[in-house]
Amino acid sequence: MSDSPTNTLISWVEVSKNSDFTIYNLPFGIFQNKKLSPRIGIAIGDKIVDLSILDQEGFFSDMFLPEGVFLKDSLNEMIALGKVITKKIRERVQDLLTADNEKLRDHSARGKVMLHRKEATMLMPVKIGDYTDFYSSVEHATNVGKMFRDPENALLPNWKHLPVGYHGRASSIIPSGVPITRPKGQTKDPESGSPVFGPSKKLDFELELAFITGKSTKLGDSVSTADAEDYIFGFVLFNDWSARDIQAWEYVPLGPFLGKSFASSISPWVVTLEALEQFKVESQVQEPEVLDYLKCDKSHSFDIQLEAYIQPDGEKGSKVSTTNFKNMYWNVAQQLAHHTVNGCNINVGDMMASGTISGQEPDSYGSMLELSWNGKEVVKLESGTERTFIEDGDTVIMKGFAEKDGVRVGFGEVKAKVLPAK
Ligand code: MN
Repeated sequence: MSDSPTNTLISWVEVSKNSDFTIYNLPFGIFQNKKLSPRIGIAIGDKIVDLSILDQEGFFSDMFLPEGVFLKDSLNEMIALGKVITKKIRERVQDLLTADNEKLRDHSARGKVMLHRKEATMLMPVKIGDYTDFYSSVEHATNVGKMFRDPENALLPNWKHLPVGYHGRASSIIPSGVPITRPKGQTKDPESGSPVFGPSKKLDFELELAFITGKSTKLGDSVSTADAEDYIFGFVLFNDWSARDIQAWEYVPLGPFLGKSFASSISPWVVTLEALEQFKVESQVQEPEVLDYLKCDKSHSFDIQLEAYIQPDGEKGSKVSTTNFKNMYWNVAQQLAHHTVNGCNINVGDMMASGTISGQEPDSYGSMLELSWNGKEVVKLESGTERTFIEDGDTVIMKGFAEKDGVRVGFGEVKAKVLPAK
């Protein structure tokens, strides 16, 4: 440890070198286990800190938190206390977990507070009121435009002037581990005159990150790019499952509908904006210049490495994509400013996903649509198994982490298995 930076935080909890859940991270989630009802926890290493027990033992008594605020099946009420409070809660836990702090380390309740992550079931972290999906990767939008429209004019004229998005379906957002069922719907072969009904033959994933809003606005009010981060509580990994054949037939003129709304999977631990602060990087240069309400005084882009894996039944997982959140053309502050510029109100627990995150290299594309170029090219897995889209029995796994100066902050994973159509 002698070569570590002087400000290195070390915990008395053992945290392995590659753990996403270091003392710098401390994400919030909702868990239960065989004995305990749903409640709020913070992850560190292989452990969960049960905040409700910490509270009962008086570790937050100076904060005058509402009774039972951690004994909830969602983070919404805690988040609604505001960033000033949630920041303090996280910093208190960070302090208590520091190696030389004996208050929890040597406390008789330590065994009740510190639980095993592998014995816990993770639930949906928030009750999501509204969900919006953006389309903010220029590489992804260009690839899709080339495939479905005109290779010479892949981006539509509005794309570089506003963060394109659509209102998605919140009811079908599910936590990691819950299987999805192959959707059925109408599809139409370009060569055929009429549509057919049946299971999607082009089931796909979209590798995304989503932020959760932590503060509401009044109808009619807008959020500026300068204030946007006050409204962002944290981030999760987001797999925006997509049925490309259903989508291709239905999307004109009003955009995605049943090709998207059947399921989206999220990682269960919400990584706070504060934990990601040190991984900020310069935002992409935007040309042409954007309108004033979309201009930013500082960076709102993050260097977060992202990976997608496909694991066919009985096989090992095989990496099919490596990309980075910093590739996004539109940043989160611009997304939120644009979302609210017309006076549309937001609530605590809304979810806003980035859109598929693709890079420039073919192995950095964040969907099978792009990786297989709409089924024209085969994606070879490590086992030799070939895929163009996702088959029944496949599990799709996404991982994400940021790392800098020996400090690692990660998301864990989001995974879901695909079951045959009903
Ligand atoms: Mn999407």
